[in-house]
Amino acid sequence: MSEYQRVRLGVNGAAGRMGRQLLQAIAEQPQARLLAAIDAPGQACIGFDSSLLAGGEPSSVPVTELADAPLADCDTLIDFTAPRVTLQLIDILLDRIASAGELSDGQVALVIGTTGFEPAQLERLRAAATRLPIVFAANYSVGVTLALALLEQAASALGNDYDVEISEAHHRHKVDAPSGTALAMGQVVADALGRDLATDAVYGREGITGARETRTIGFSTVRAGDIIGDHTVLFAGNGERLEITHKATERMTFARGAVRAALWVADRKPGLYDMRHVLGLA
Ligand code: NAD
Repeated sequence: MSEYQRVRLGVNGAAGRMGRQLLQAIAEQPQARLLAAIDAPGQACIGFDSSLLAGGEPSSVPVTELADAPLADCDTLIDFTAPRVTLQLIDILLDRIASAGELSDGQVALVIGTTGFEPAQLERLRAAATRLPIVFAANYSVGVTLALALLEQAASALGNDYDVEISEAHHRHKVDAPSGTALAMGQVVADALGRDLATDAVYGREGITGARETRTIGFSTVRAGDIIGDHTVLFAGNGERLEITHKATERMTFARGAVRAALWVADRKPGLYDMRHVLGLA
C-alpha cells in the first residue's frame, strides 16, 4: 500500500490512557498513518516525539497543542479527551468549514470516544454531524457493539415481565458515572421496551425506597482499582434471571476499534454514525 493510500490520522488526547493506546494501534495498522498527536497546552510531552508516549520507533510526529496541529492534513481525528475539549475541537473544525472553504479539497472526519456529555453538549455534537462525518460510540469494542444488539433482542423478547438492572465497574480515575456504555445499554433497552430513560432511569438507591416500580431501569456503579470496564445487564423475572455481561481486559480493544472506525469514516458523508455502522450491523 502506498503512502498516498494510507488514511492520515490525528489523535486528540494523545498522552492519556486511551491516547497512548491509540498511538500504538495506529502504529500496528498498515492502512493508517499518524499525522498529528495533540494534547493539552502545558503538558510535559508537548514538543517531543509522539513515540515517547507509546514506545516503538521514533515517529517524527511531535506532540502539539490543538492550535499548532496540522488538522487540515488529517483524514480523520480520533478524540478521547473530555466533553469540553471534544466540543472545542468540533468548533474549530466547523469554523474551518465556514471560513473560505479551506476544506474544499478534503474533509476531516471525527471519531469520538469521549463520554460524559450533558444533554445540551450532546445536542451540539449531533448538530455538528450535519456538517461533519462523526462516529460517536460510548464503547469501541466489538463485544460491546454485539452486546447492544443482543440487549435489543432480549428486551424485546422478555418485555415488561422482567426487571432490568444495569451494573458497571471501572478504574478509580474515571470521572463520569454511570459509564457511557451503561447509558448506551440502558438506551437500547428503553427503546426496545418503549420507555424513556429521562424519567424511568434510577441511579442508585438508598434508604426507604419503596417497592420497585415496574418501568424503572436501575443503574449501579463501582469505581475501584484498575478495572478497565465491566458491564452486566440483568433481566430478572419470576423463577429465572438472564445476565448479559461484557468485560474488557485491555484498552487496546477500544483503541483498535476506534482506529477501525477512523478508517471507515474517512470518506463518508457528514452524518452521525456509531460502531454498529462501522461493523455493518446497523
Ligand atoms: P485520560 O484523562 O487518561 O486522558 C485524557 C487526555 O486528554 C489527557 O492526556 C489530557 O491531557 C488530554 N486533554 C485534556 N485537555 C486537553 C486539551 N485541551 N487538548 C488536548 N488534549 C487534552 O482519560 P482516558 O482514560 O484516556 O479517557 C478519555 C475519555 O475516553 C473519557 O471520557 C473516557 O470515559 C473515554 N473512554 C471511552 C472509551 C470508548 O470505547 N468509547 C474507552 C475508554 C475511555
